[in-house]
Amino acid sequence: MTAEILAVGTELLMGQIANTDAQYISRRLAELGINVYFHTVVGDNAARLEETLTRALNRSEIVITTGGLGPTKDDLTKETISKTMNRKLILHEDILDKIRNFFEQKHRKMVDINVKQAYLPENSIVIPNLNGTAPGCIIEEGEKTIIMLPGPPQEMQPMFEDTVFEYLKEKTGVILVSKMLKIIGIGESELETRLMDLIVNQENPTIAPYASQGEVTVRVTARCTQKKEAEEMLTPIINEIRTRLGDLVYAEDGQSLEEVVCTLLKENELTIATAESCTGGLFAGRIVNIPGASEVFERGYITYSNDAKVEDLGVSYDIIKKYGAVSKETALEMIEGLKQRTKASVGVAITGIAGPGGGTPDKPVGMVYIASFVKDKVCCKEFELMGNRERVRNDACLRALDMVRRLILGIE
Ligand code: ATP
Ligand code: MG
Repeated sequence: MTAEILAVGTELLMGQIANTDAQYISRRLAELGINVYFHTVVGDNAARLEETLTRALNRSEIVITTGGLGPTKDDLTKETISKTMNRKLILHEDILDKIRNFFEQKHRKMVDINVKQAYLPENSIVIPNLNGTAPGCIIEEGEKTIIMLPGPPQEMQPMFEDTVFEYLKEKTGVILVSKMLKIIGIGESELETRLMDLIVNQENPTIAPYASQGEVTVRVTARCTQKKEAEEMLTPIINEIRTRLGDLVYAEDGQSLEEVVCTLLKENELTIATAESCTGGLFAGRIVNIPGASEVFERGYITYSNDAKVEDLGVSYDIIKKYGAVSKETALEMIEGLKQRTKASVGVAITGIAGPGGGTPDKPVGMVYIASFVKDKVCCKEFELMGNRERVRNDACLRALDMVRRLILGIE
């Protein structure tokens, strides 16, 4: 099966935005074994769109368009395609209701031009849009299929996942089996470098790295006709990735780091107590988010001020004065406090400068000390984390979770 991705938008031609929609869709089509032979970009111009569409339909079985489904005059994808395909545009009252609701929920006034979005070509399959007003649609015409999606990625991607992917999967009749390798400790670009030759030579299984919130995920997908073939296809490639990344891989089935840590705590009959400064309970919150946390979570202190560190954990004022609240010495005293005050067999202390204020040349924003003990093993590390306050606090939690994972597993 062959496909062409036809992006509509003058902004793309002017270089104002990059065609990330096409990249996203291509990745997913590769997983289905659909060959993408052309990416085309055309401006918001009816004549040129018609010409491009006709050419695309001549050389590809599936044409997926993005953009130009909005309410304004320059949004002309649906109108042009309907005209080219000789299909009338039909008003869908239910879609109109949904658009009205969408505006009501957002406390915005619906204007008349939005009514246009409730019209779809006759005999088309509706692609609902839960994150915006413009629905997409699928037109089948003999051997050819046209799929229209809106431009904004936050609308397009869920629509593609919820409706289009399943539709195409059925069309191709393939079975897909995926593994989600979760990785901590390296960024997306380093990961891609280490796996580059595998990614470049991939065909089946496909290998797709994604980055989000300080973690990277590699989805490995096997395409087959029978489910039992999948395991055989996935195992060698998973083993190869594991060999290259070693203990940076912490999960194979998409589990979160806190899920993995909670499982490790349970399996080893350990309980955890926390002492948090800059993360202000975020770490404890992540543990408690996992169902069954009561079996492993002993207690958490939020010791934000110096007084709290002294009164609740027994950190000495002298240490804070001499080395600072953000220091290895204070972090170690914090876990010492946990050891003495709780029965937990695992402890974590986090102290750092989340920013945006409070940094100095010696101790810049993003400097975080994390200390942990697992029974009699102790570890303390300094991190220089990047990004805004939210990112620093989030990354500090991830590093702390990883430290606990490593201590329990006995890896450096
Ligand atoms: P809207 O209802 O927002 O107008 P639309 O379907 O009409 O949606 P466009 O008007 O073509 O889409 O584009 C809207 C925005 O979507 C663009 O400003 C851009 O941010 C994003 N966008 C459009 N096309 C792409 C693309 N191919 N890749 C990435 N982003 C895109
Ligand atoms: Mg638009």
